[in-house]
Amino acid sequence: MYTERTETSDEEEIRAWAEEYAKKNGWVLNPDKKVLNTVIRGLSRNKKEFGEQYCPCRLRSGDKEKDRAIICPCIYHKDEIAEDGHCHCQLYYRKDTAERVAGEKE
Ligand code: SF4
Repeated sequence: MYTERTETSDEEEIRAWAEEYAKKNGWVLNPDKKVLNTVIRGLSRNKKEFGEQYCPCRLRSGDKEKDRAIICPCIYHKDEIAEDGHCHCQLYYRKDTAERVAGEKE
């Protein structure tokens, strides 16, 4: 069973940043709180371990220069959101996709 755990201050910071970034672009964050929390936790963990908030859903090559492409927000997210309705990690959603997904769960 999924239980809420208290968010660390790093996670809170990333969530606030992601909310702001989504708002600025006319998107929303994943309406599925469980998935959203997992992505935020992954970003926070990567930041702590590797110094950058690398995408938790993509493999780092270990080459800092190459891996800049996958620091969130990665270079792919705008195309993915436009084409699929959400980014690969399902952090950012187009509003219409988020509404459809939330409606299917009701
Ligand atoms: S796929 Fe989404 S969560 Fe992952 S880096 Fe790109 S924008 Fe961030």
